[in-house]
Amino acid sequence: MSKHSNSDVRVPVNEDSLSIKRDERKCLLCGSCRSTCKFGQAVYGYYDLEKTDDYAICIDCGQCIQSCPNGTLSLKQDYLEVLEALEDKDKIVIAQTSPAVRVAIGEEFGYDYGTFLEGKMVSALKKLGFDYVLDTNFGADLTIMEEANELVNRLKNKTNLPMFTSCCPAWVKFVEIFYPDKIPLLSTCKSPVLMQGSMIKNYFCKQKNIPLKKVVSVSITPCTAKKAEIKRDDLGCDIDYVITTKELVKLLRKKEIDFNLLEDEQYDSMFGSSSGLIFGVTGGVMEAAIRTAYYMMTKENMENLVVKSVRGTDGIKEATIKLNDLKLKVAVVSGTANARELLKKIDEGKHYDFVEVMACPGGCISGAGQPKHDLMEMDKVRQDRIKSMYNQDSKSTLRFCHENKEIKKIYKDFLVKPGSDISKKYLHRTYQDKSYLLGEDIKNMSKN
Ligand code: SF4
Ligand code: SF4
Ligand code: SF4
Repeated sequence: MSKHSNSDVRVPVNEDSLSIKRDERKCLLCGSCRSTCKFGQAVYGYYDLEKTDDYAICIDCGQCIQSCPNGTLSLKQDYLEVLEALEDKDKIVIAQTSPAVRVAIGEEFGYDYGTFLEGKMVSALKKLGFDYVLDTNFGADLTIMEEANELVNRLKNKTNLPMFTSCCPAWVKFVEIFYPDKIPLLSTCKSPVLMQGSMIKNYFCKQKNIPLKKVVSVSITPCTAKKAEIKRDDLGCDIDYVITTKELVKLLRKKEIDFNLLEDEQYDSMFGSSSGLIFGVTGGVMEAAIRTAYYMMTKENMENLVVKSVRGTDGIKEATIKLNDLKLKVAVVSGTANARELLKKIDEGKHYDFVEVMACPGGCISGAGQPKHDLMEMDKVRQDRIKSMYNQDSKSTLRFCHENKEIKKIYKDFLVKPGSDISKKYLHRTYQDKSYLLGEDIKNMSKN
């Protein structure tokens, strides 16, 4: 008999899930989580508990949490462990913050949806005692350098197209479980968080003479899937903890830090400069990669930086973009149910060169670690957060990652060039066929 009660009404949740948990006492059996998982993410309903040895298939996107009306489902929390590290005088605690956190954190402190509060957020982290506060957008710029180079090579050699982005761990897990035949199409680039984590321990700490045994590396993200990703045994991950925007708010409340009164502060240098803010919205990775791929192919910057056709919150957006003498067919997808549709078109013979997929609707701005609002409000929340990101991108003086001086320096001093052996060692990864999870013999096999 299945240990997952009421799985005909709600999503089954594994006890050892690294991303979500359920408080059984509070469940209304309303079915909202199941609808989200089934229709938004196309996960529930695409496996059979009888065949999976009663193991619930889950890509850790956490979107069921955001749709649960009663707080019955919540994310697995790690902020108390981070607090312990912050209070340990022997530890050097290094934070990196993902792009979408800064446009959502203020919503917990009375600011309008999407208010851009990067300076206050950095200041809050310093008040909490983080020794260094770095911007994951630097990792996003590195990702774009590597991914654009990979795209240019695949286009040149006409291999493994369309190239799929790989920065969303929920999408990666979705492919590994349901579409293992598409694994070769995934970019081999690690996500920006993982790239930055690798560079923190393998470059930043060496430059600063920080002994690695003292370092605790913490990523602050909108994402529940990254909590599971850092535990993957095939990644040798350099991040110690992932905490979400929601958990950062809890830390601030626990330490009685008044966010509203904080003065703006700046990121620490070395990994503090970037052009990668638009990574947090659907279409952002695609847009940034195209800007740099264009430069790599022509040695000139694109005149019209805004790739309008890949912006917006539609679940599937398609465009043809002129890249030198190539006409690049691209698609931008959010929500893995939409990804299933696109994959069907590909299997039916439709051609694309480059496809971005993010599991959350609208991209990371609506990750499950972001402040939660009434479901009726969520469209407006998403639009306001997206507007805020594009607004900041348009004001930025640095809009090409290949022009970022810190990026140029790390390639000159350490990584040599995109796609070099050393870049491959630290910034790229492999994948695993996890389709066995759907089948019979899953005992003793890695489930993360
Ligand atoms: S985390 Fe995502 S995949 Fe897992 S049960 Fe919830 S909605 Fe489904
Ligand atoms: S959405 Fe929440 S309350 Fe409703 S069935 Fe799912 S877990 Fe229970
Ligand atoms: S879209 Fe972003 S927040 Fe959502 S699962 Fe993917 S990486 Fe995480």
